[in-house]
Amino acid sequence: MPKKLHYTIAIVGAGSAGLSVAARLLRESKALHGSVVLLDPQTKHYYQPLWTLVGGGVVSKETTERSQQSLIPKGADWIQEAVEEFNPEVNRFVTKAGTVIQYEILVVAAGIQVDWERIKGLKECIGRDGVCSNYDYRYVDSTWKSIRQFRGGNAIFTQPNTPIKCGGAPQKIMYLADDAFRQAGVRSKSNIIFASGNASIFAVPKYAAALNRVIERKDIVTKYQLDLISIDSVRKEAVFEHVVTKDRETLRYDMIHVVPPMSSPDFIRNSPLAGAAGWTEVDKHTLQHLRFKNVFALGDCSNLPTSKTGAAIRKQAPVAVQNIISLLAGQPLAARYDGYTSCPLVTGYNRLILAEFDYDLTPQETFPFDQSKERYSMYMLKKNLLPKMYWHGMLKGRM
Ligand SMILES: Cc1cc2nc3c(=O)[nH]c(=O)nc-3n(C[C@H](O)[C@H](O)[C@H](O)COP(=O)(O)OP(=O)(O)OC[C@H]3O[C@@H](n4cnc5c(N)ncnc54)[C@H](O)[C@@H]3O)c2cc1C
Repeated sequence: MPKKLHYTIAIVGAGSAGLSVAARLLRESKALHGSVVLLDPQTKHYYQPLWTLVGGGVVSKETTERSQQSLIPKGADWIQEAVEEFNPEVNRFVTKAGTVIQYEILVVAAGIQVDWERIKGLKECIGRDGVCSNYDYRYVDSTWKSIRQFRGGNAIFTQPNTPIKCGGAPQKIMYLADDAFRQAGVRSKSNIIFASGNASIFAVPKYAAALNRVIERKDIVTKYQLDLISIDSVRKEAVFEHVVTKDRETLRYDMIHVVPPMSSPDFIRNSPLAGAAGWTEVDKHTLQHLRFKNVFALGDCSNLPTSKTGAAIRKQAPVAVQNIISLLAGQPLAARYDGYTSCPLVTGYNRLILAEFDYDLTPQETFPFDQSKERYSMYMLKKNLLPKMYWHGMLKGRM
């Protein structure tokens, strides 16, 4: 017999967003203890922002991993099942195992889907022979291996023309690779190529100007509006397509760091919760669903028109929690999210530009200095301080 359960608050996805919301709700309201459930099939949780430094050979990948069980806040239940179907008209959803959850409030926090199979030939070669990616725990070690073993030739770094998590990560690893190649004495016999589906290096003009200076200094070739569509690992060739003209260009590679296209998870895209582009469709300030008023969404699976990062979730979670508590109390939703997001743009070993901005692409900098300058202090913040803030602050609902 399939299980039927009822919770006041059901949270789909126990990643950065789901755990932050659960922990904060339980901190704010003792009455909710025992009435919150998290659904997530994964037994492990990863601090993905550090994968850039894993790929750059700075930290080991094991430091980014914790058991999911150890992070579930006290007072919440965890059902280790994947959600398959939402029925928001009747306030319930069903898991793949057939469990039916009835809820009063639903929080959708299931992250983004990485579409590896949309690049022809990638699945067969990812993780070996110079084809690497920081976008998965399984492959992140292959990035440092590829950089270490590179002896010259073409090193290509790709970025797709879709929304992705951490829009800056595809270029950060390239700057580390450039430094590593110089240290190994192979930079003079190599070309570094950034092939991006986007039209420019970064959306915010202030940081784009600074990054373009980094690119010039490092002698990196940029090719914009080019999407990687296939890889031939035998010939070591990567085929790109221009996003507008659809013209094709084939580039030979000696190493290639691939960032695949990404999309809204299929089970959300095919549900009544999705908007036209497939993301969970919420109000960009209150995070409340546009049609189902007892549904909220945040993080990578939402349609919030800002850069998808953990830093954005740090500001979204308190807004979602405040508004959920208001809704339960029959009060108007007063908390508002302004689109804040942040991208710590590693520009080399020991250097970082800390981009922070909002929906209007207006910089919202934390520190009393020009954050578009490359700084050692900001690199140390990313490497040492932000992980601690994540594990002990954000995931505990303290910040
Ligand atoms: C290489 C890399 C570098 C990054 N760098 C930075 C950075 O420097 N700074 C920064 O702020 N952010 C960075 N990010 C982005 C950041 O990690 C993400 O934006 C953040 O983790 C998104 O949180 P989320 O909760 O939306 O999704 P996730 O943390 O990915 O969690 C989603 C959860 O939903 C679960 N789930 C999926 N499907 C289902 C289902 N059917 N049923 C139930 N559960 C489901 C998954 O198992 C997962 O646990 C980086 C990411 C990567 C990959």
